[in-house]
Amino acid sequence: MSANAVWLNTKLATMVGEGYGKIDDGAIAVDQGRIAWLGSRGDLPAEYRKLPRHDCGGALITPGLIDCHTHLVYAGNRAAEFEQRLQGARYEDIARAGGGIQSTVTATRAASEDELLAQSAKRLSAMIAEGVTTIEIKSGYGLDLANELKILRTARRLAAHSSVEISTTFLGAHALPPEFAGRADDYIAEVCDHMLPSIAAEALADAVDAFCENIAFTPAQTARVFDAAKRFGLPVKLHADQLSDSSGAALAAQYGALSADHLECTSAESVRAMAQAGTVAVLLPGAYYFLRETRLPPIAELRAQRVPIAISTDCNPGTSPCTSLLLMLNMACTLFRMTPAEALAGVTRNAALALGLNDRGQLVAGMRADFALWDVRHPAELSYAFGANPCVARVFAGDRDD
Ligand SMILES: [Zn+2]
Repeated sequence: MSANAVWLNTKLATMVGEGYGKIDDGAIAVDQGRIAWLGSRGDLPAEYRKLPRHDCGGALITPGLIDCHTHLVYAGNRAAEFEQRLQGARYEDIARAGGGIQSTVTATRAASEDELLAQSAKRLSAMIAEGVTTIEIKSGYGLDLANELKILRTARRLAAHSSVEISTTFLGAHALPPEFAGRADDYIAEVCDHMLPSIAAEALADAVDAFCENIAFTPAQTARVFDAAKRFGLPVKLHADQLSDSSGAALAAQYGALSADHLECTSAESVRAMAQAGTVAVLLPGAYYFLRETRLPPIAELRAQRVPIAISTDCNPGTSPCTSLLLMLNMACTLFRMTPAEALAGVTRNAALALGLNDRGQLVAGMRADFALWDVRHPAELSYAFGANPCVARVFAGDRDD
């Protein structure tokens, strides 16, 4: 367990309330890995004044960043395909030659668990270096029981090896594996009746997700996956309305989903359903950018209905080969016209909500002592600059990385 200490000479962005919840010249007292007290330095209670002190040198402290939607565990990459397409190859030809998601499934199935761990650990390190303290990792490149188990076990092992918390999501209904070509309903039965029970028995998933889209699974098939998740008491999330409006977000809301993600084509009606259900909107500007989409998620409607908005990398080899949550802050502002305060809330407070975690995402007494120190004067700088990493230190459950 971490050493109890006080962090002084810092500006705090607590992310409590509407804006940044700033406290100038603040202090944080940490006890047993939790925030025991925070406020203005002058108000520090006597009981904490004798604790060891960390001088932050004026650095900004925010809650540790939370990346709430990633497909970080996979093997290989799709750079060759990226290059072929820019040289003029057609997507259909690449797919027919085993490219696209199928190439990642093939590479991931072929990789041993240790190889998968080694490749994924590099991506995780890049994220941690930018102040991330909690990350969600989905399966979905195995598409059979043995390989989905391998991915989820790898995610759990990554957590054991790093100072980061990992929330795992079973995404068996990500794509149709080749051995089930033309038999999507049979594959959904496999996901619900065979894969999910085994994964739940090993407690390898904290949530269940699906890809509801005309190139993936129908709303009816998605509902079957959600019903199965319910039987195991697992919360659900959904890749919804990314390329077309299939009322995926409304379906997610109907099941009380933690989040509906992507949402480029979501209707105002579905946004209202999300608001009523308390479902978080997870927006993924990296995929929007990489696919050169032009249809924006319904930001104005989400704001009007007060749906919490989270921002994430969607780290994956096909549509968002990105490990920078800081870059996503910038893209949320430039591409989606969100404010820097909204963007920062999207990778802290609202990202915690999207994972159903109520002990992090804000600097509040009683919450986990997960925070990041930044060499910036104002929190808007985190969204403003891109390609820079001003993270100078990270504190995980009260322990500082060195
Ligand atoms: Zn995704």
